[in-house]
Amino acid sequence: MALSIYNTLTRRLEEFAPIQAPQVGLYTCGPTVYDFAHIGNFRAYIFEDLLRRTLRLQGFRVTQVMNLTDVDDKTIRGSQAAGVQLDDFTRQYKEAFFEDLRTLAIEPAEHYPAATAHIAEMIALIAKLLAKGYAYHSEDGSIYFSIAKFKPYGQLAHLDRDGLRSGARIAQDEYQKENASDFALWKAWQAADGATAWESPWGRGRPGWHIECSAMSMKYLGKSFELHTGGVDNIFPHHENEIAQSEAATGKPFVKYWLHCAHLVVDGRKMAKSAGNFFTLRDLLQRGYTGREIRYALLSVHYRQVLNFTFEALAAARGALKRLDEFAEKMQNQSPPAAAGREFQPVNAELQSKIENWVAGHVAAFTRALEDDLNTSLALAALFDLVYEGNKRLAAGALTPAQAHQALQALAQIDRVLDVQPGITPLPPQTIIDLAQARLEARRRKDFAAADRLRRQVEAQGWIIQDTAEDFKLKRSGAASS
Ligand SMILES: [Zn+2]
Repeated sequence: MALSIYNTLTRRLEEFAPIQAPQVGLYTCGPTVYDFAHIGNFRAYIFEDLLRRTLRLQGFRVTQVMNLTDVDDKTIRGSQAAGVQLDDFTRQYKEAFFEDLRTLAIEPAEHYPAATAHIAEMIALIAKLLAKGYAYHSEDGSIYFSIAKFKPYGQLAHLDRDGLRSGARIAQDEYQKENASDFALWKAWQAADGATAWESPWGRGRPGWHIECSAMSMKYLGKSFELHTGGVDNIFPHHENEIAQSEAATGKPFVKYWLHCAHLVVDGRKMAKSAGNFFTLRDLLQRGYTGREIRYALLSVHYRQVLNFTFEALAAARGALKRLDEFAEKMQNQSPPAAAGREFQPVNAELQSKIENWVAGHVAAFTRALEDDLNTSLALAALFDLVYEGNKRLAAGALTPAQAHQALQALAQIDRVLDVQPGITPLPPQTIIDLAQARLEARRRKDFAAADRLRRQVEAQGWIIQDTAEDFKLKRSGAASS
């Protein structure tokens, strides 16, 4: 079955088809590094991690780009309030952000371009928009995008074209739909910007926020690419403006699928410092919760539903993980001895092939749930069905060591997406066991050329064969990734 995802652009579920499989370009709007990221931000980053891992599980080769907004209205205000240079101010929050990603087991993107390192690309893009007549100079030396010139403006946010205030201008980076109007591509220097300014063909100034993502996404992913994501509050104006800038400049469709995750609220209310319900990741760690508990809580609700974050939900995540850990431990105790460590020794291969693989249905249900627009609540239900059935079989004395081994393999495979059981032993997939078995047989009939070839095949997939007196052991090689 294919992956189906909800495209904000068409307001429909669509089957995912890359422009040129197996390559997939994924642009994820990143943090504005003026403060520690809060759990609402991390809900979006975890949704994007889930998307990325699901794509990889399906055999796609993902190139993910996440920008770091290190110059905008907020970072400039913050650095001035702190009395430090802009780059010194943003550096501490960049470092904190990467530390937080590791705490939450979010896979690193391939590129993390910083806005301040791509001013030249933004200037080139603005110059193109001026040359094509989509942009104009304002009296103060700033440059604006004319939304009246770009006919499809409003397609993503589904704006009523009659309500657009073309000709009216807005200088701020963030504004509401009712203020849809010409927006700033380049902001002429003002006293409030202090030392933050770059030279451009139009004088000193700085880029607007929206142009940053158009310039950096196209630099790393090309003029047209597959996926662009963010929170629902990015739909307007940020992503609407990105489409306008990019498509006006290139004349090509910018992004095929736009995915947006819903808000996170705390105890049913909008998270706000003034309401006392505002949490960074660090606040929760200080209260004794772990990264994987928070990750589980943020993963457990479908990304298009509002996530109501509560401490009861965190306690439930802790309980669910405890159940998973206990199940994994029981399966390890029941497995053939060598499979309990980081090594694998085949149980009589002939016998194993005769046992019905009881986990396959659960793994398939888990995968189907993810393919259904990343339905994590259904996927977790499939995982706990596996736990329930395994426990039931074990209690009835009806779980063989080979079947316990299959359960561990299923957990390890599921955890490639969820990544909430770091202790789970990576066990070799059946294809690797089969290759190692074939090599053993080749050795026994003294066909050493075939045995060597099979060994190299196993090694190319990240496993090492160690010969033992009777058969062999399999070990994960250190450098290989999943
Ligand atoms: Zn962006």
